[in-house]
This record gives sequence, structure tokens and C-alpha cells, in this order.
Amino acid sequence: MKQVARFPVLSALLFLPVLASMAQEPRALPQPDERYKADILLVVAHPDDEGAATPYLARALDEGKRVAVVFGTRGSSGANEAGAEQAAALGQIREIEARKALTTLGITNVWFLDGKDTASQNVLQSLAAWGHGASLEKLVRLVRLTRPEVVLTFLPGTFIGEDHGDHQASGVLATEAFDLAGDPTAFSEQVAGPTKRLEPLLENLRPWQPKKIYYFADADREDIFRGKGPTYSVKDIAKSTKHPYWRMALDSFRAHQTQAKGFIESIAKMDDAQLEKLITAQGFWSDALQFERGKSLVGGSVTGDIFEGITPAAIPFVRPEVLPEPSWPELSVELAGPWSFYGEFRRAHGLTNLPHPEPPEIALQGHTAMVIPLWVRNETGETREISLSAALPAGWTLQSGTGKFNVGPMQVAAARIEIMLPMVSETEPKKAELQEVSVHAEASGQTIGDVKLRVELRKRTLPQ
Ligand SMILES: [Zn+2]
Repeated sequence: MKQVARFPVLSALLFLPVLASMAQEPRALPQPDERYKADILLVVAHPDDEGAATPYLARALDEGKRVAVVFGTRGSSGANEAGAEQAAALGQIREIEARKALTTLGITNVWFLDGKDTASQNVLQSLAAWGHGASLEKLVRLVRLTRPEVVLTFLPGTFIGEDHGDHQASGVLATEAFDLAGDPTAFSEQVAGPTKRLEPLLENLRPWQPKKIYYFADADREDIFRGKGPTYSVKDIAKSTKHPYWRMALDSFRAHQTQAKGFIESIAKMDDAQLEKLITAQGFWSDALQFERGKSLVGGSVTGDIFEGITPAAIPFVRPEVLPEPSWPELSVELAGPWSFYGEFRRAHGLTNLPHPEPPEIALQGHTAMVIPLWVRNETGETREISLSAALPAGWTLQSGTGKFNVGPMQVAAARIEIMLPMVSETEPKKAELQEVSVHAEASGQTIGDVKLRVELRKRTLPQ
């Protein structure tokens, strides 16, 4: 009876706030922070790597585009021309140099993935040292935070050039983040709504699908890259500064004192004409920056402008189209390591446009050991004997890894051939001819495969 008697009072209390809210204007729910929205997200490895793209970034900024940058490491293993600091202390300095360099262009949204500098040409070593999973989680978060239309990054692949494993790793992570950031099931805690007023765990980001990804190569050769994407002159004049884009890029580079103090001081008093002569003579930036189009989800032509086909509206998540798996004969041999990784990587991310050298290539330092990693595949139902032999250029010495091996039924076994490379004399011309090494595999007297690798021997290589 008491319940019934109190009902009218209770119902009046319940109705009051409803009536009050009907009377007021609807309030806006919190939206993503516009200050962090980017048109271009540049993903590179080290402080000063941004220089590979700054003449283009200067142009994009001049056209009103917003740019954000992610570095994989702080460059703590680099040289220091400006002071005594090394290692982690140098990394702290180089972070500031990178921020200053980018601020000169007008870019202030800059992040670091906390990877560890890894001096090799093997992308898999860089990914291992950086912590592949943790780095990818951070980069996916930054893609969702910055909501870029376009991702720009290093070309993932193995080429003759500096071909730094860290550069390649930034390109691998950027490609993976391009395909994952729009997927609500990837790092889903990032896209979960808050359950508390001051939410400590769930991030309330939204999935974000970037529209295009473009690459630039850390390679010496240019032939296989031409026509695979747009080019931009570095000599055009910016509306905002009336300077050519190369000059704005050079002014930005002046922040990197630890890397080039002597050079930066040597150009301090040069005028524009002297600078242009120097820059073109030293091949800092070739006349035009060449980009490779990785993927476009909004059409446009391969060599057309980077922003061709892009409109402001967000696009839905596009699950990457995985290309069919190659079919292997029952017995086979293939180049393993980063080469087979990149074959799988291009297939998994639907990167049909990405140039890669055939036969595969690498530059190596003379008088060091070269390792050829192999997968030996036996898809028959019984153990098979496989014999491996190597054909080497004159002066190269086989150390181990050839001979006869048993591979069990339905097994893929790792093999490695080690070769000692000859000394490269100081008097030899800088660019030697490419030499070819090949591995021949047989079973029961029948050829099951030949693996070729082209090698450029150098006095010194390469990533440091
Ligand atoms: Zn670098």
C-alpha cells in the first residue's frame, strides 16, 4: 500500500529531468581533436631521414596540407659532430634536432616509436630490435590519432644502396598500419569507448582507413622505380616563402648539427646561387623526388598527383586483398631471409605495383663473410636427399653449407651457405661490376632449383 501511495511523488521526480532536457539545446559529444588531423603522415626511421621527403613536404605545406611525422628511433647510434654525447644521450639531442628541423617547415606534430637503432641491411633484425608488435601498436594508434589521407614512407625491399634495415622497417610498419588502423578488431582497446569519466585504459579513438600509401626508395638504382609513381621538382618556388622547395628543405636540415656540423657551417655564408650550385653538384636531392605508389583505395592514376582522387570524407575500412599463394613443386629451394619475407609481404598486402630487382641484389663489404639463407622444401611423403652446390665468382671462397642433406617428409628446412668475400682494393673504381653467385639444388640427379643473387662488392658498407 505504501508503494502505491508514494507512486505519484516518484513519477513526478522522474519526469522533471526529462522535461528539463527537452527544453534545452542538444549538447555536442566530444569529437576527435582537429589539431592533430593530418593530410600526410610521414613514417621514417631516424632523425634526419625526413630529408628524403622535405622538398615535397614543403610543397604540400605550401598548398595548405597538414603534415605529421613519426620516427622509428631517436638515432642514438649515429655520429656526433656537435659534442661529446653518445648513445642514449645523443638520442635525446637528436629528438630535439628533428623537432627543430620540422618546426622550421611548420610541422609540430611529431612522434617517436622508441625503436633501437639497428645497423644492418636486414629488415628482420630491425623489426626484432624495435619490438615489431609494440611498434606496430604505437603506429596504429598514431594513424588513428592523426587520421592521414596519405601515408608516405620508405620502400620496403632489398636493394643495392644504403638500404638501411631501419629504413625498411619503417616502411614495413607503415604498410601494416595502413592495412590495420581501419580494422576495428585490430588493437581494439584503442577504439573502445570509455567506461569511466577519467578512463585510464580504453582510448576512444575511431578506426581510420588512410586512402593512399606512397614510398620512396633507399636504393642507388633508379631504373626500376621510374613510372611507378609521381615525381615532384625540387626547384619550383613556394608561394609562401618565395624560395625553391630545395632551399626550404636545406634550411630545415640545418637543425641536424650532430650529423653535419661541418657541412652546415661551411654553407652558412653562401647565397642562393652558390647553394643551388652546391646542392645540384653534390646530388643532395636529384632535380625531382620520385615516389612509388603502393596502394590507392580511391583510384587515380599511378603517376598522378599524390592527392588525386582524395576527397575530405572518411572511407570505410578496406580489408587488404591477399594475392594467391605461389604453388611450389614437390621439391624446391628458395632464397630465404628478407627476400622471402618481402615476397610474402607484397602478397599479403596486395602490393602489386612495388618494384623489386630480379634477380635479387645486395651490396656487401669486401673481406667479410656472406651468408645465403635458403629454404629447402620437401612436399613429398618421404625423406629426400638434397644436394646443394654453389657457383662463385673468381676470388670468392666457399666456407660451409654445400653438400648433401636429408629433408624429412612435408618439411621446410633452413639451410645457409657461407662464403668469404675477397678484399676490395682501395685503388679499384668506386662502383664495381655486379657479380652473380648462384646456388644449385639437386635431388636424385635432377635439378630442383637454382637461386641467384647479384652482389656489388664495396670497400665499405653500409648502414652504420
Ligand atoms: Zn636513416
